[in-house]
Amino acid sequence: MTVRKPEDFRRIVVKIGSALLVDGASGKLKAEWLAGLADDVAALAKGGRDLLVVSSGAIALGRRILGLPRGPLRLEEGQASAAVGQIALAHAWTEALGARGLTAGQILLTLTDTEERRRYLNARATITTLLKLKAVPVINENDTVATAEIRYGDNDRLAARVASMMGADLLILLSDVDGLYAAPPATNPGAAFIPVVERVTAEVEAMAGSAGSELSSGGMLTKVEAGRIATTAGATMVIASGKRANPIAAISHGERCTWFLAEGKPGTARKKWISGHLETPGAVKIDAGAVKALRAGKSLLPAGVTGVEGSFQRGDAVVIRGPDGAEIGRGLVAYDLADAERIAGRNSGQIEAILGYAGRAEMIHRDDMVLRGE
Ligand code: GLU
Repeated sequence: MTVRKPEDFRRIVVKIGSALLVDGASGKLKAEWLAGLADDVAALAKGGRDLLVVSSGAIALGRRILGLPRGPLRLEEGQASAAVGQIALAHAWTEALGARGLTAGQILLTLTDTEERRRYLNARATITTLLKLKAVPVINENDTVATAEIRYGDNDRLAARVASMMGADLLILLSDVDGLYAAPPATNPGAAFIPVVERVTAEVEAMAGSAGSELSSGGMLTKVEAGRIATTAGATMVIASGKRANPIAAISHGERCTWFLAEGKPGTARKKWISGHLETPGAVKIDAGAVKALRAGKSLLPAGVTGVEGSFQRGDAVVIRGPDGAEIGRGLVAYDLADAERIAGRNSGQIEAILGYAGRAEMIHRDDMVLRGE
């Protein structure tokens, strides 16, 4: 593999484990370390890249502020800790990024925000808007409301889902280990280091073991699983040690880390998923002008829609048909059937007056669409 560096990528998700941000003994934020990391993030962002941060640490910070004893927390205690700690965490990021001319925007996700298509569109639209406005989304799980059945539980997989949702081409997992070993190094001190994972196979999964540290929920197993999610979505992933002052710069300087190679390009897997639906619940018919606009890379606006059929919900994959009824492509529709019918043929500026709420300007956004032959 040619040596790669974070600078080679365009949209980068950086995941930071609790053990890096919060001191295990005192339970306090490691402000100096955060400053070094913020320098790295700012350097990449100033080079014109999109940066997203997935930061753990809310529960670890909050439990100290609340004076809870060490050891495992009950669910409610963890949620209460997150409620308190998330404020401190967001504040720390606002300060650290702000001092470097960057604006932080807090996003708290629950599992359904990335797993359910209707909600997925909302979460993605907000994060996309932050990136367009040159803000840095600082993301965590909404631990205050997440219970066992409805949570990611670890920020490794959350970060991988975010990378795939946002079409990122690089996911950096910073943790207290410097990469993947052929067996867990804690119990196998001589285990060989694995610098490159070409594909996440069962054999690779078996190398991971399962143990996590006291502060964070994710062990190597969740990191390898994150690798599977990210790489199949077309993102490269790197696991690197965060136990140094400028951990992202260290990757660029060639410090030891494990690279998981992307399968295909970001967006390819998503496109396959959109176009691969066997049964679509409905269709939108569009006029010749809209067909032309779509082929020129534009989104589908309500103005170009001449009719709707079937019974679809917001976020469903529908067929897009041209004036002669032939399938032009498929896409995730931003309105349910009833609302789509009401705004068909109208200008986007009239949507709010017609529906009583300000919906999306596009009926189907270009990012959510696959045309035949693409
Ligand atoms: N969301 C948790 C927190 O902020 C961390 C989850 C993890 O350790 O991966 O405390």
